Amino acid sequence: MLKPTIMKFGGTSVEDADAFRNVARIVMAAARSQPVVVVSAIGGFTNALLLSVEKAIDGDARNATKSLDSYFERHITIAKELLGNGSRAAVESDVSEAKREIRQLHKIVAAHPVTSPPLQDEIVAYGELLSSRLLAAVLREEGLAGRYVDARRCIKTDENYGCATPLAETLAATQSELAQIIERNEVPILGGFIGSTGAGATTTLGRGGSDYSAAIVGAALGAREIQIWTDVSGVLTADPRVVAEAQTIPVLSYQEAAELAYFGAKVLHPKTIQPAIDESIPVRVCNSRSPHERGTLIVAESEAAPQTVKAIAHKGGITTVQVTSARMLGAYGFLRGLFEVFDRHRTAVDVVTTSEVSVSLSLDNVNALPEIISDLQELGTVEVERRRTIVSVIGEGLRNTPGIAARVFSAIGDINVSMISVGASSVNLTFMVDEAHTGEVITRLHRACFGGEASAKLVETQVNEEVLA
Ligand code: ADP
Ligand code: ASP
Ligand code: MG
Repeated sequence: MLKPTIMKFGGTSVEDADAFRNVARIVMAAARSQPVVVVSAIGGFTNALLLSVEKAIDGDARNATKSLDSYFERHITIAKELLGNGSRAAVESDVSEAKREIRQLHKIVAAHPVTSPPLQDEIVAYGELLSSRLLAAVLREEGLAGRYVDARRCIKTDENYGCATPLAETLAATQSELAQIIERNEVPILGGFIGSTGAGATTTLGRGGSDYSAAIVGAALGAREIQIWTDVSGVLTADPRVVAEAQTIPVLSYQEAAELAYFGAKVLHPKTIQPAIDESIPVRVCNSRSPHERGTLIVAESEAAPQTVKAIAHKGGITTVQVTSARMLGAYGFLRGLFEVFDRHRTAVDVVTTSEVSVSLSLDNVNALPEIISDLQELGTVEVERRRTIVSVIGEGLRNTPGIAARVFSAIGDINVSMISVGASSVNLTFMVDEAHTGEVITRLHRACFGGEASAKLVETQVNEEVLA
C-alpha cells in the first residue's frame, strides 16, 4: 500500500538559489519515503502579485506588470545558478510566457476592473505555478525523478475566488493525478494555494493556503505524514516576532494546533488540521534551515504537558461589536435576529460573549461593517471598538487544571481585558486586549506560563496580520 510523505515548503524556504538547493537536499534525503512535494510561491511574490492587481485596477496596467520584474528575474537567476542549459532555457521560457500572460490579464483588469476577483486569482496563481515548475527542474537536475503536476488538476474548488473551498471531487482527482506517478517511484511536485473550478477557472485557497493544500493532498493519498517545512523550528510557545525566547513545542494535539492556528499562529493555516484529523495523519512542522531538528509533531493525543499551558497565540486587527438591548431580557428570537445580520452580510464572527442585556462579537473582516452596524441598530445600541487583539492561551491541561485563569489574569492585572471566554473544546482561554498592549501582554503571559526573562521584542503592533511577510 502506498503511503507517501507530503513535504510542503513555504515561501521563506524557496527565496533564492541557496534555499532551493537546500530544499533539494531535504527532499533527496527523504527519497525513500515516497515524497510528494508541495511548494509556495518564492518569498514575497504573492504579495507583489496582489499589489500588481491593485495597480491594474487603478488603470496602470503597464506599471502593474513592471512591478513584478524583480521576481521574474529571481526565478531566472535561480535557474542560472542551479540548472544546466536545456532545463534553464525551459524555465526561462516558462517565465517569459508567464510574464506575457500576466501582462494580458493586467490589461483586461485595467479595462474592466469589475471582473477582477477571478482574474486576480488567475494572476496570483503564477506565483505557485512558477515556483513548482522551477523546483521540479531543480530536483531533476539533482538526479531525483521529479515530475511537475499542475495542482489545479488536483484541487477542485467552488467559485469563491480568493478563498475557495475544496470540493469532494478533489479526492478522486488528486488520487488519479498522483497515484501512478508515486507508484512509478517518481516525485510529484505541485504548487500549493491554487485550485480550479469545475469549469476550469483558477482559484486560490486564501493567504497562507499552501499548508492547506498539503493537508488536502495528504488526506487524499492517505499519507504517512504531512510535513510543513518553514523558517522556524516548529510551532513555538508564542509568536517569535513578539517573544524572543519562545521555544519549540515538541508535541501538540490536533485540537491544540487547530486552536493555535485559528487564533493567529501564522506558522499553520487554520484549515490545515481538519484533513489530517479526518484521516488520522500526523502533521510535523520542521525548520528547512535546520532540518535535523525534530520540530513539532501534531497528533491526536498530545503527551502529558510539563506545563499545563502549551502556547499563547494572538491575532491583531480585530474589531469588536457590542449590541445592548433590554429586549434581550427573557425574550427569544433576539439572538437569531442578531446572527442573521452577520449571515446576510457574509461576515464570520470569531468570539461571542453574552450577558443578560448585551452581546459582544469579534470580527476580523470588516468589509461590510457600515451595513452591519446599520442593521444591528434596529436591535439595540451598538458600540464598536477597533484595533483589538485576541489573545488565546492554549493547552489540553486547561480542561481540568484549576488556577490557570488566576495565573493568567494576575500576570496582566493592570491591563484591561474584555470578552473572556473558554473555547468549546476547553483547550483555550481567550480574551481581548487593546492592540497597543499586545507585545506587553504576550510577553508577560509567556513569562508567567513558561518562566524566563521578559526581554520583550515589542514589535510594532500589526493592524492587519493578513499582510503576510
Ligand atoms: P511559510 O512561508 O513557511 O509558510 P509563514 O511565514 O507562513 O511561513 O509562517 C512561519 C512564521 O510564522 C514564522 O516565521 C513566525 O514568525 C510566525 N509565527 C507566528 N506564531 C508562531 C508560533 N506560535 N510558532 C511558530 N511560528 C509562528
Ligand atoms: N503563496 C501564498 C501566500 O503567500 C500561499 C502560501 O504561501 O501558503 O499566501
Ligand atoms: Mg505560511
